[in-house]
Amino acid sequence: TPNSWESRADNSSLYGFTDLPSVHERGAVVLTHGEGPYVIDVHGRRYLDANSGLWNMVAGFDHPGLTAAAKAQYDRFPGYHAFFGRMSDQTVMLSEKLVEVSPFEKGRVFYTNSGSEANDTMVKMLWFLAGAEGKPQRRKIITRVNSYHGVTAVSASMTGKPYNSVFGLPLPGFIHVGCPHYWRFGRDGETEEQFTARMAAELEARIIMEGPDTIAGFFAEPVMGAGGVIPPSKGYFQAVQAVLKRYGIPLISDEVITGFGRTGNTWGCETYDFMPDAIISSKNITAGFFPMGAVILGPDLADRMQAAAEAIEEFPHGFTASGHPVGCAIALKAIDVVMNEGLAENVRALTPKFEAGMAYLAENPNIGEWRGKGLMGALEAVKDKATKTPFDGSLSVSERIANTCTDHGLICRPLGQAIVLCPPFIMTEPQMDEMFDKLGAALKKVFAEVA
Ligand code: PLP
Repeated sequence: TPNSWESRADNSSLYGFTDLPSVHERGAVVLTHGEGPYVIDVHGRRYLDANSGLWNMVAGFDHPGLTAAAKAQYDRFPGYHAFFGRMSDQTVMLSEKLVEVSPFEKGRVFYTNSGSEANDTMVKMLWFLAGAEGKPQRRKIITRVNSYHGVTAVSASMTGKPYNSVFGLPLPGFIHVGCPHYWRFGRDGETEEQFTARMAAELEARIIMEGPDTIAGFFAEPVMGAGGVIPPSKGYFQAVQAVLKRYGIPLISDEVITGFGRTGNTWGCETYDFMPDAIISSKNITAGFFPMGAVILGPDLADRMQAAAEAIEEFPHGFTASGHPVGCAIALKAIDVVMNEGLAENVRALTPKFEAGMAYLAENPNIGEWRGKGLMGALEAVKDKATKTPFDGSLSVSERIANTCTDHGLICRPLGQAIVLCPPFIMTEPQMDEMFDKLGAALKKVFAEVA
């Protein structure tokens, strides 16, 4: 209950490693192994990892079924590619499974080693289609400010973060439209519905300005992850998709974080009730036990890619480890574990408690809002709640909070001025209490220091 969080949060040393130096003094936390949702460092200290590694270790760090699936496949057939019409049986089985669990009636799958490469691959598919369909000018890619799509030259260009300017990115032709964060970007007196309508109108104006036949695709995370866990404003995807449909622009759902259960449904697009033209998957697809990404094309793009590839002989793209048999065997097991062994159900069961804990912590006068969906959430630190004024940028309060948490055996992530929580799907109620106790204590300590 919230009361237990409050009473325990009062004693910040309760769980603390007070005998050890701070994170800054001791440098990196070097880990040796994991147990369930905990990771253990070289000094034997245990940390509850409230970020599931990097959003991906949803089944925890020692799931016996996943390591057994990996071992069995290493023994049977430890590596192969997916070129020239040859591939492992696991690769075929996973493709069938992915289409089966996707929202699509039929589809096609392309494998990569990461989410960045999956976004890159999707962009190359759209460019390939543009050429094959006699519209070579159709090359521009639209994403949103604050979005995160990866680190390769293309996926970093898609990413709507200013830090990529150090690389001279984005590349030409990558366009960033407004971020649908109503709390931060809604204007005075503007309702959430009006805000959504404005986002859609601004998108349409930009498409017209650029020339609709120069746009190859629109990519969006159902809930922005690395942008600071930002769920869309009410009706956002319906409004945006109506615009995209008017101009025949595909909507690609980047489900690298939201895929396989994070928001309470298998896909984020189900949670927000829209049908994308393709899905980008990675991270949870193997529960983090193998590096893998996948592009899952819906029926229209699948048919068009098939026709284009046949006309041009092939789609000349692929990675040595695309469709790696061990990765595919692990993914098959991970999907089974999440969907059939109670993990997805646990996300849904724990969500009310997660929301209650976030709402409780958001009562803190220095938390401007809490936001999230399913088991992903963020608390936005502010200097002034009424005016939503952020803390001075030179003093990263969120980083201090996260470091204080680390000192007390909890790993959570600072993103901008927000503290992000993205617990593994195996989390129990007592572990969730521990998470909120420790974070509550850290908030009190740091806000008292910086106020
Ligand atoms: N897309 C989204 C939504 C992500 O959150 C990430 C990584 O966090 C990526 C793409 C990139 O994936 P990767 O780090 O595997 O390249």
